[in-house]
Amino acid sequence: MPFPTYHFGPSTFFGLTLRKWLDVPVFILANVAVDIEVLFNYNHHWPVHGYAHTLLGGAVVGAIWGIAAYPLRHFFEKMMRILRIPYQTSFWTMVTSGVLGVWLHVVIDAIYHWDVRIFWPGKAKPLWQLLSQEQVKIVCLGFFIAAAVIYAFAVTSYMKQKKANPDKTQG
Ligand SMILES: [Zn+2]
Repeated sequence: MPFPTYHFGPSTFFGLTLRKWLDVPVFILANVAVDIEVLFNYNHHWPVHGYAHTLLGGAVVGAIWGIAAYPLRHFFEKMMRILRIPYQTSFWTMVTSGVLGVWLHVVIDAIYHWDVRIFWPGKAKPLWQLLSQEQVKIVCLGFFIAAAVIYAFAVTSYMKQKKANPDKTQG
């Protein structure tokens, strides 16, 4: 499994846990938005982690992703209905979720990859090797399992909501 896929463990866990305040799909898919940089740099430059993988640049990327996702909100709503996850969002929820989603990604990458300058323009890399690469992967897998449990709770609460309010969640 390539390392970027490990991000989906913690992202799904925190996204679902904080689903009352976050836009879950925007938060989770922020991992894809930020790693476009890696795909792009892969063929052009080295090292592959640039400005998008910093707190400052990542906030910009996350905000742009949140704004770009706003027209997709009805599509996300449909997707979440299929997945049986309660979903409500707004423009600012989407922007905030984009930023926080990228930041979670950058923090994990900053532990795992030597070339992430999280505090750019500062040079400090206090997170690098805080855990070994093997440990990061194990923690991420742990979050995957925890996310599955939280998902079961989310579906239960969706079903309860649907029972109490059949018109609103119909589909
Ligand atoms: Zn990354």
